[in-house]
Amino acid sequence: MSDPTETERLREMIREAKRIVAFTGAGISTESGIPDFRSPGGIWTKYQPIYFDDFMASEEMRREAWRRKFATDETMVKAEPNAGHRALAKLVEQGKMTAIITQNIDGLHQRSGVPASKIIELHGNTTYATCLDCGQRYELAPIRKAFLADGTLPVCEKCDGIVKTATISFGQAMPEIQMARAQDETLNCDLFIVLGSSLVVYPAAGFPQIAKRRGARLVILNRDPTDQDDDADLVLHGEIGPTMSRVVGVN
Ligand code: NAD
Ligand code: ZN
Repeated sequence: MSDPTETERLREMIREAKRIVAFTGAGISTESGIPDFRSPGGIWTKYQPIYFDDFMASEEMRREAWRRKFATDETMVKAEPNAGHRALAKLVEQGKMTAIITQNIDGLHQRSGVPASKIIELHGNTTYATCLDCGQRYELAPIRKAFLADGTLPVCEKCDGIVKTATISFGQAMPEIQMARAQDETLNCDLFIVLGSSLVVYPAAGFPQIAKRRGARLVILNRDPTDQDDDADLVLHGEIGPTMSRVVGVN
């Protein structure tokens, strides 16, 4: 549980701010039942990541990627937004929070009622798929059905391109429009709040530093210490849901 004086301090900083940007990582969704990467028992204790070039180069890797996707997807499909997501949704609704920059791919900020226009997904979204050549969107249900029936890999109906979940893999180029929007929001905010990110995955982890250099206040809320705690104006070590409920007054 974070210290009451720290939660009071965050409440005050939110009151004083005019433009707040949230930056969220896997830690905001663990209370919804989705494991993060780096905590004990996290996804990386089970799987090595599949790099983009390997996915493109080998049908076997693509099959492995889809196999993993459907093996772990049930948790993602069942997950509901939690108090942390709802607290941010309330700040957006109040007009205080201009954007939520997220590293998450689970779509839970959208499902907590935040308009898509306020959400910047740096690593894409795993709740649908796209053609890597023409960008055509595909829903997962038919892909799952064909794959589980006989291992069929999805191919674009329009251009024969390779279809992949709409996520950004390691080694894949960052999405340009989202990176530019995130940069713009970060440069123009006066309070930047990091929630549930270990701040080790770059270039995403560079945004708190950009905010700080530009003169915004930096707050980090995380269960464990992060690499950037020393740069923050306020660090809260606690669980995101209970802490943000107290700060913003949601449950
Ligand atoms: P990470 O796993 O590296 O770090 C998560 C951090 O959150 C850890 O420091 C952990 O101590 C903290 N944490 C976990 N639960 C918490 C809670 N309830 N309250 C407070 N702190 C908590 O995650 P990352 O920094 O987001 O980087 C991993 C990458 O993996 C991201 O780029 C993301 O794309 C991807 N990912 C996404 C999801 C998702 O969409 N839900 C899940 C796993 C991984
Ligand atoms: Zn296509």
